[in-house]
Amino acid sequence: MSIRHEKEKGVNVQVLLRCRPFSNDELRNNAPQVVTCNEYQREVSVSQSIAGKHIDRVFMFDGVFGPNAHQKDLYEQAVVPIVNEVLEGFNCTIFAYGQTGTRKTYTMEGECKRSKSGPNGKLPSGAGVVPRAVKQIFDTLEGQNAEYSKKQLPLMEDGKGGVLVRGLEEEIVRSASEIFTLLERGSAKRRTAETLLNKQSSRSHSLFCITIHMKEATPEGEELIKCGKLNLVDLAGSENISRSGAREGRAREAGEINKSLLTLGRVINALVEHLGHVPYRESKLTRLLRDSLGGRTKTCIIATVSPAVHCLEETLSTLDYAHMAK
Ligand code: ADP
Ligand code: MG
Repeated sequence: MSIRHEKEKGVNVQVLLRCRPFSNDELRNNAPQVVTCNEYQREVSVSQSIAGKHIDRVFMFDGVFGPNAHQKDLYEQAVVPIVNEVLEGFNCTIFAYGQTGTRKTYTMEGECKRSKSGPNGKLPSGAGVVPRAVKQIFDTLEGQNAEYSKKQLPLMEDGKGGVLVRGLEEEIVRSASEIFTLLERGSAKRRTAETLLNKQSSRSHSLFCITIHMKEATPEGEELIKCGKLNLVDLAGSENISRSGAREGRAREAGEINKSLLTLGRVINALVEHLGHVPYRESKLTRLLRDSLGGRTKTCIIATVSPAVHCLEETLSTLDYAHMAK
């Protein structure tokens, strides 16, 4: 399998499609399969025939990962080059977009057991994009004898315009294991919220941002600071969009989530189509990520779908959304 990289297209947006395996329930119920992945051709086919009604559609992406694809496959083929860009001093963003239950969180966070993970330790095979990116970054920096700052930053608060998230904490870390500790604290908080608020994660975005400041000396002996930023975003469930009828072009105001997913789609579409006006200001999410979308940045969208017939409508909605970004 090969990934078609951005450079060939002259556009800095890459769209990948990942289809999850059937769940145990779906297997027990012999759920019909309506999605077929051709990883080599980078194609996804959706087909269904019921009562004389046929759906037969084929979508192409920059990369396609079927139900048997491993976390490592997706990371090595699609994310390694992006993290390399960050280490060169560019801003990059990776989004997971899809219906709740299609393994966005598994793709981004994965199953990362406590303990062994450390800068030189091996990650578990279920580890997702976030821990793998952290490891790649620290492995690279350690190889370059990088200096890490020990200073603690104060709490950053939203002063004007609501661009920073209230209560956002920015911490300076010196090793991959310090980040893993932070991440565990974050996901413990979210797990509590999930129990309390009933699947809160399907209605909120989860952002993990890492900024790297790298000192470099020019041949003339001058010191330069290179700064790269990586945003890893586990988006709210895409079913929020279709419920408001957005797919039929009846987009109504349906809260910030809906607006942010739709605006994100429009921003990416404007960047891909080289439109003059990019509507960053129309949602909090795109305002927050503005310095990492467009210009000399790289963006990757990992769209996630289910293979099963009962998800067909959401699957088509996700494929249409992801395709618009190409
Ligand atoms: P999303 O974030 O898109 O809502 P999740 O990543 O939470 O989706 O995955 C949806 C469900 O799939 C999980 O609640 C879990 O039950 C199941 N799941 C996730 N990863 C695995 C896995 N590796 N093996 C088996 N089931 C899994
Ligand atoms: Mg999730």
